[in-house]
Amino acid sequence: MQLKNKVAIVTGAKQGIGLGIALALAKAGCHVVVSDLDQTGCDKAATKIKKPGIKTLAVACDVAKKSEVDNLISKTLKEFGRLDILVNNAGIFPFVPFADMTEADWDKVQEVNLKGAFLCAQAAVKKMKAGSKIVNISSIASLVGFEGLVHYCASKGGVNGFTRALALELAAKKINVNAVAPGAIETPGATTAMTKEMRQGTIAAIPWKRMGTPDDIAQAVVFLASNQADYITGQVLVVDGGWTLR
Ligand code: NAD
Repeated sequence: MQLKNKVAIVTGAKQGIGLGIALALAKAGCHVVVSDLDQTGCDKAATKIKKPGIKTLAVACDVAKKSEVDNLISKTLKEFGRLDILVNNAGIFPFVPFADMTEADWDKVQEVNLKGAFLCAQAAVKKMKAGSKIVNISSIASLVGFEGLVHYCASKGGVNGFTRALALELAAKKINVNAVAPGAIETPGATTAMTKEMRQGTIAAIPWKRMGTPDDIAQAVVFLASNQADYITGQVLVVDGGWTLR
């Protein structure tokens, strides 16, 4: 897949799926803006994806804060003069039983996972030209329920609705908006707190009999960010090794 000289922003890109996406976009020829909560994390990730002919920019940004999102977009435009691809990847998934879930727990998850995508997309769209792509990272939790993740499941269901409605509005501008819904992926956020038993249980539920890798997700994102996907918009592409098939 060729994305030579395109300019892409990836949020939540210092580790996990976001870093995998940044690496794959750079491999496909994109200049990549690496964004995450802390500058040091962004700098380290940018160093990891650096390669000849590829420019990187590291910008700290909390996607839930409009002023920081506006700064991310304006720094990108200042450095590269254009923005072709936005990947809304930043997300949190703190397990909390519903009975114990506080209003603050609920708000935090919606602010990062759903409002973050809204803020980034709205600021990006103002600068994007025809042929640009937005890819939102949803989750299979948008399609099936997970105990302890009521707020997360709601936020990712929201991401799917956001994807469809925005795709419709941006069709006139010829900007594609799609989502990728990962299953269980090996990332620091997902696996650090997993016991051996939890891991075995997860793998047992996946027909492919393994957890996914960040690159499994990144390849789907690279496709949706490419011209090969020009006629695909408003879709949610499930990448889960078959988890949701039964
Ligand atoms: P992760 O925790 O390993 O990485 C997420 C990154 O997002 C971190 O670097 C974190 O610092 C950053 N982040 C958190 N809040 C942020 C904010 N307010 N602004 C900017 N950055 C912020 O998680 P991951 O597993 O790589 O998840 C990435 C995305 O994939 C998330 O949207 C998640 O919901 C989704 N997802 C993950 C899985 C999985 O199994 N790993 C499954 C389905 C969906």
